[in-house]
Amino acid sequence: QAKALGKGRFIFFDDSMREQLMANLNLEHELRKALREQEFTLHFQKITDLSHDQENPQTLGFETLLRWQHPKRGLLSPGAFLEVAEESGLIIDIECWVLASVAEQLQRWDHEGSHSNTFVSVNLSPKQLHHKTQVKQLIEVIHQHFPSPERLILEFNERAFVQNPEQSLQALKTLKTAGVKLALDDYGHGISSLNYLSNYPFAFIKLHQSFVKSLNNNEKNLTLAKSLHELGDSFGFRLVAEGVETQAQLDLVKKAGCDYAQGYFISRPQAADLPKEVNSDSDDDVIDCA
Ligand code: C2E
Ligand code: MG
Ligand code: MG
Ligand code: MG
Repeated sequence: QAKALGKGRFIFFDDSMREQLMANLNLEHELRKALREQEFTLHFQKITDLSHDQENPQTLGFETLLRWQHPKRGLLSPGAFLEVAEESGLIIDIECWVLASVAEQLQRWDHEGSHSNTFVSVNLSPKQLHHKTQVKQLIEVIHQHFPSPERLILEFNERAFVQNPEQSLQALKTLKTAGVKLALDDYGHGISSLNYLSNYPFAFIKLHQSFVKSLNNNEKNLTLAKSLHELGDSFGFRLVAEGVETQAQLDLVKKAGCDYAQGYFISRPQAADLPKEVNSDSDDDVIDCA
């Protein structure tokens, strides 16, 4: 524990804090190397459209999920490194890489004639919204890689807005004007302000998996979801259920009026298959994000 001693505000680090600090510094160092040496990779999870017939479900698109192929620790999910990536500011460069790679993936899919007209969504850090200059830079990156960004969805969770709601709202409006769609991630988990539904320009509200899981034993949450669907009709957003793991949950989210769903029951996140004619060793398109 750190102790503030009176007005002098001396902070003592004990051994476990020192270890944590060293571990984070080391992780930051490794993350820089990971960017240089292209150790990041992307998984994609299908988002399915519930409004069409059961036999032939349509795909809305794919959510991009960042992975790190760590040289020693294997394939890591964002939970293992996101905090340090954000605190160090490296997340901005990492997400630039993500956006560029997603654009390449869309081009590959178009080239093979697969997944035409599907959306692709990218999770972004709150950091992307906190300063006007950052937003401007983000839009430059987007326009550089997506000549027409209407198939791009940017996901933010409410962590992005609590700190500075005014600036965030302004940033979201600017992003929308730049041609992307916006999604509010993990709704129904934290504060879940109604203000985000009515005044923020979201095209999609994504219901957090804990909320989705509560539907089977919480009649009130089911009612809440139905009402959210109706609000969506007036405010212009669609509801996406996250973390659907069973047929029963799929039935429930349909009953609740969700327009789209994703989850292990529908499809696990997975690497995009490279088309046959592309040699994965050829790496001539080096992405410049610095
Ligand atoms: P998220 O955006 O809410 O993504 C959904 C998470 O739930 C993913 O975890 C996904 O693998 C997992 N998931 C999908 N279906 C199911 C299911 O049926 N059951 C369960 N239990 N889990 C399911 P993942 O890939 O570990 O990502 C965790 C979070 O990391 C994401 O949550 C997102 O907030 C963040 N993230 C991912 N990629 C990026 C990125 O490029 N930048 C930033 N800033 N954050 C990212
Ligand atoms: Mg997400
Ligand atoms: Mg989520
Ligand atoms: Mg409807």
